[in-house]
Amino acid sequence: MSITPRLLAIHAHPDDECISTGGVLADTVARGYHAKVLTCTDGRRGEIVDPTMDAQAVAPILHEVRERELANAMEILGGVDYELLGYHDSGMVGDDGNNDPDTFWQANVDEAVRRVVAVIRDYQPAVVILYDPWGGYGHPDHIQAHRVGTLAVEAAAVSALYPEAGPAWNVPKTYQTAFTKRRVADLNAQLIARGLSTPFGEETNPDNIVSGVYDHQVTTRIDVRNYLKTKLAALKAHKTQVHDTSHFFNFPPDLEEMFYGYETFRLVRANHFPTTEESDIFEQLDTY
Ligand SMILES: [Zn+2]
Repeated sequence: MSITPRLLAIHAHPDDECISTGGVLADTVARGYHAKVLTCTDGRRGEIVDPTMDAQAVAPILHEVRERELANAMEILGGVDYELLGYHDSGMVGDDGNNDPDTFWQANVDEAVRRVVAVIRDYQPAVVILYDPWGGYGHPDHIQAHRVGTLAVEAAAVSALYPEAGPAWNVPKTYQTAFTKRRVADLNAQLIARGLSTPFGEETNPDNIVSGVYDHQVTTRIDVRNYLKTKLAALKAHKTQVHDTSHFFNFPPDLEEMFYGYETFRLVRANHFPTTEESDIFEQLDTY
């Protein structure tokens, strides 16, 4: 069976899609394939970091502003589709938002899974990208996006589940984002060696880096250096959330390339698994 290359990336907040999958999204559409981002929350509890904005005035309409920012970012990536599930942002652990009944964290999981199943069955992606069980760094909405996305991929394949959500679709390849501990450690080591400050603390031993995965867990490493400028421009379109003065936009060029120029993933669900590292998420789709 020949499968149409089509990518669905499931994310928690507007801006997450650029950070971990901006390059692969841009690459997918540049190759003439289709890519879509499904964003679970509206980002209404994000911190407003743009100093030119009146944060007090923007805060009540932040969810609307962030949807526009997402639309702009998807345009910059070359025309990526997007859809928002509309759950309220839950905020970080301990934030008042954790108790808001309209948050993704408080959502009825069965209902959220049904909605994502409907998107998967309608879109019929060849590849789904999700978060790891810790959501990359422990944010409640990221953990929930992992849970809901993982269950939805499984349920979408079973016609007896959520029959009202459309005909079953078995996603050929499902990945988790897999930023490596080593990349953070190596960046830290380089920044420290050059007398520059680092946004990640000063740890240079990968085993002591809390976030991220070990190198051996990476199955797929995509070179997105050709899309580096596009990816960073798309990320900067999320103006309320990122600012030029941030550490993250002021690494020396070689370290910027090291940090952003590759996107790494872990293939977690597939008909078969590669024995060597993949360099393309659509690799071997013709064998599915
Ligand atoms: Zn996020």
